[in-house]
Amino acid sequence: LIRFDKVVKRFGSNTVLDELDFSVASGKHVTLIGPSGSGKTTILRLLMTLIKPDEGTIKVGDAYLTHEEKNGRLVPAGEKHVREVRKNIGMVFQQFNLFPNMKVLRNITEAPVTVLGLSKDEAEQRARDLLDLVGLGDKCDAYPTQLSGGQQQRVAIARALAMRPQVLLLDEVTSALDPELVAGVLDVLRDIAHTTDITMLCVTHEMNFARDISDQVLMFDAGRVIESGPPEKIFSDPGHERTREFLSAVL
Ligand code: ATP
Repeated sequence: LIRFDKVVKRFGSNTVLDELDFSVASGKHVTLIGPSGSGKTTILRLLMTLIKPDEGTIKVGDAYLTHEEKNGRLVPAGEKHVREVRKNIGMVFQQFNLFPNMKVLRNITEAPVTVLGLSKDEAEQRARDLLDLVGLGDKCDAYPTQLSGGQQQRVAIARALAMRPQVLLLDEVTSALDPELVAGVLDVLRDIAHTTDITMLCVTHEMNFARDISDQVLMFDAGRVIESGPPEKIFSDPGHERTREFLSAVL
């Protein structure tokens, strides 16, 4: 469903992703691990088109995110094409980024109404179902500031799911939370991973969570995947010295 082909991303003279190739099959849950600065967040930001690659192609489903076909040739993607492809992707950030001036329900209905063209009633029904799913069915009328960080993050998850994306990107979604709130958010995500067919790509430092939900773990170092495999293999019997060092520092 997602394919990176020889993707290069530089910031000035710093090559953050170096001819990166990797793919994620539909319905799979893939976790990116690796030292700070190895390029994990950059991958998610490329998928959200918050930044553009310097070289290479990124494909989501049958369409390129980076390019579009015109007269049988691949040309750099225009804004309209990018918007269409990006509809398939939802993201939850480290900082929840809820709209502070909107109640919880409206935070969730806003994009389905304005972007997907759902009626207000349909969007509200969808939002209520999702709030039930994340355990916040009674918070429709609250403002974000009236909620704990963990509750806000669960609203952010519901908001991403309301667009019915094929892919959910999770960028260290628990790292801004007080420790006692982490488990509730991870439980919701475990539930979603185990009960839906959504494809997940996540960056996390929560290794137990990664072990529980991942079909595949990719270990990054200096902008490349140096090792990949099922979590049982990577966590118990890593093949690469850098993976061993990284895991012994975080586990
Ligand atoms: P962490 O676990 O600390 O979040 P990461 O693996 O997600 O790390 P990235 O956030 O992808 O790493 O960053 C990779 C490198 O790119 C870092 O060296 C970072 O300083 C650099 N970088 C990221 N964004 C920018 C930017 N907008 N401008 C300049 N350099 C950037």
